[in-house]
Amino acid sequence: MWEDSPVTDARAETEREPDFPPVKGGVNAIAVRAAESEVNMRDERCIFCKIANGEIPSNTLYEDEKYRVILDLGPATKGHALILPKDHYENLYELPDENGAEVLRLAKQMAVRMKEKLGCTGMNLVQNNGESAGQTVHHFHMHLIPRYDDGSRIVTWTPGEPSAEELAQIRDTICG
Ligand code: 5GP
Ligand code: ZN
Repeated sequence: MWEDSPVTDARAETEREPDFPPVKGGVNAIAVRAAESEVNMRDERCIFCKIANGEIPSNTLYEDEKYRVILDLGPATKGHALILPKDHYENLYELPDENGAEVLRLAKQMAVRMKEKLGCTGMNLVQNNGESAGQTVHHFHMHLIPRYDDGSRIVTWTPGEPSAEELAQIRDTICG
């Protein structure tokens, strides 16, 4: 099921666990929704807008009215997935609060599902904002990166050693 695109595979819908939200409709339903949602926020030049709204096919793991979860084309690990809102928000700063809460809720549901089905032993949630943070596609997305006991590290940094004064100064800068 995880290798196929449920959008074009009727079997995938019927084989899903009943407690996991199914991919809704088929190709026709997506086309109708795309026409209906022209009032939604889209960027015609944005590839994730096209993927999220079904204009470009993808390996879809989950879909509802507002979100699509797809497999990443250049996965960091087996099962690396992306949560895409169907509306175009460039990054976390632009994302409405309501969507932020929904994305985290969906991330949790997907993580539970992937842990069960893939047998991963860990999960990194990664969400890049701005080129300095490594964002390459400027349509908000959340990475779900399943982790296995292979000793590799993905999200890593060299810990700094700030003084107590420096930490206090930074706190005052942010909070002041
Ligand atoms: P970012 O670096 O912006 O946080 O992540 C962008 C991610 O999107 C990358 O992991 C990249 O592999 C993935 N990606 C880029 N273009 C496509 C695409 O056309 N389809 C899919 N499924 N993933 C893509
Ligand atoms: Zn977009």
